[in-house]
Amino acid sequence: MKTYLFAWNPKKWNWTTLEQSIEQLHTTGTVKEKWSVISHKKIKVGDRAFLMRLGEEPKGIMAAGIVTSLPFLSQHWSGEDKLVNRVYIEFDTIISPQQDKLLNLESLNKGVLSNYNWTPQSSGVEIPDEIAEELESIWFDFINTNNHFIKSSYVDNEISYSEGNPNQVLVTRYERNPYARKVCIEHYGLSCVVCEFNFEEVYGKIGKDFIHVHHLKQISIVGEEYNVDPIKDLRPVCPNCHSMIHKRKEQYSIEEIKKSLTNTST
Ligand SMILES: [Zn+2]
Ligand SMILES: [Zn+2]
Repeated sequence: MKTYLFAWNPKKWNWTTLEQSIEQLHTTGTVKEKWSVISHKKIKVGDRAFLMRLGEEPKGIMAAGIVTSLPFLSQHWSGEDKLVNRVYIEFDTIISPQQDKLLNLESLNKGVLSNYNWTPQSSGVEIPDEIAEELESIWFDFINTNNHFIKSSYVDNEISYSEGNPNQVLVTRYERNPYARKVCIEHYGLSCVVCEFNFEEVYGKIGKDFIHVHHLKQISIVGEEYNVDPIKDLRPVCPNCHSMIHKRKEQYSIEEIKKSLTNTST
């Protein structure tokens, strides 16, 4: 997975649907936007995207998500007869620049992060791996302490249930966040904590680094004050066990699923 920095300059383009998008994110848990990308030859579905607001204050990173389409040509924002490459980004977090603090340039110009140009001329510029790794870490802390995370992840569960699909694995924001995943996996490894299934052992190369990460506390019963600790609150689980954990509305505990496993095999 590569990481790209996208840019929004309000002086050049008025994002009239921004507040609507934030609202949609909070009610449905997801919002898709198309954004222009300069690295259109390299970018892939599944790559990580951060969005930087620049041009006027407040400047800073205001959104993060995952690239969900291949690049496609569409009309330039100026309305001119010009085409630009764009990709769809599914945002998991968007911060309102009017209402909340962004991850500002001051925080981005510290340590290893200061080696990168955070106010690029183009949108969709690759962020080198070691910088991206540090960015994920400070972004996680930032959204965790500012509670942006809670709001968007809270609804995830409800939506999936209201769609009447209790078997769908509920992967919350916490479970998808690259930094939270990394810390959890570094601590617990890549085997399922319920059944010990290890994807690389079974599937070889294809299964390398593959595992779900489950959030032990059900989001809907967690209060607003709550911050996620990736080691205390997250566990690696295989998709089968993960589905079983979420089989009922009040999720099963790891121990309960472990027990039911033992029962069937004896
Ligand atoms: Zn398992
Ligand atoms: Zn889960």
